[in-house]
Amino acid sequence: MDIQSLFSLEGKNAVVTGANTGLGQGVSVGLAAAGAHVYGVARRSCEETAAKIKENGGEFTEVIVDLSAEDAIAQILAKTESAGRIDILVNNAGIIRRNDAADVTEEDWDAVINLNERMVFFLSQAFAKTWIADGKGGKIINIASMLSYQGGIRVPAYTASKSAVLGMTRALANEWAKYNINVNAIAPGYMATNNTAQLRDDENRSAEILGRIPAGRWGTPEDMAGAAIFLASEASSYMNGFTIAVDGGWLAR
Ligand code: NAP
Repeated sequence: MDIQSLFSLEGKNAVVTGANTGLGQGVSVGLAAAGAHVYGVARRSCEETAAKIKENGGEFTEVIVDLSAEDAIAQILAKTESAGRIDILVNNAGIIRRNDAADVTEEDWDAVINLNERMVFFLSQAFAKTWIADGKGGKIINIASMLSYQGGIRVPAYTASKSAVLGMTRALANEWAKYNINVNAIAPGYMATNNTAQLRDDENRSAEILGRIPAGRWGTPEDMAGAAIFLASEASSYMNGFTIAVDGGWLAR
């Protein structure tokens, strides 16, 4: 068995949403290091991600699209057409809005559900259609959360959306595994990114969270690379509908 080729992404094209920062950046750098040409979707410049990838001799193309735009999916398909074929889709972009459940507005609810749940489904559908048509399969990696398993505090829309991501990952895998499309997810634990800046700034919450992580530290974008490469590569070709936790042991507690 050739271990290198089992995990190699040479010749593959990957779309990663939210590639400019945080976990999307970590995933992008990882996939590129394994040989993929990464098409980074973001609403602002991916300069930093591009620099990190190019430093390692990898390939990166920036695809500027606001995922809240009506025609976001059409824009992504048009702007990645030059790739010839996209082989891997990572649905990473996501937002969180913190508020007491009693005070959550419809605007906040809709913004979270539209990006974290609705867009994940319809972008997956758009690429899966092309893969079903050409018969060559593909890989979808959704980014779930600890709140795919737990209720969380003051983030009800986020919890609803991430619980949906876990269920959707199973539902899509059931339909698409027969087309050689692997749909799986990664559930990150508590990672040091913009998403958790408010939590980390709150001394009490921060200490509470850290004290519950068996690994004794917050996760980093780099921690995402291994699981992402695995789920994007041939190594995971018989994995369908599963969500892998990359959480320093949080769920094991
Ligand atoms: P982050 O640093 O806030 O990154 C979120 C990404 O989504 C950014 O690239 C952001 O772009 C992008 N995004 C948001 N709205 C967008 C839009 N309308 N159009 C295009 N891109 C948009 O947080 P992160 O932690 O890396 O989050 C990445 C994913 O991991 C999310 O799905 C998040 O829910 C999930 N996650 C994070 C943690 C954690 O502890 N950090 C844990 C579990 C799951 P901008 O920079 O322009 O806002």
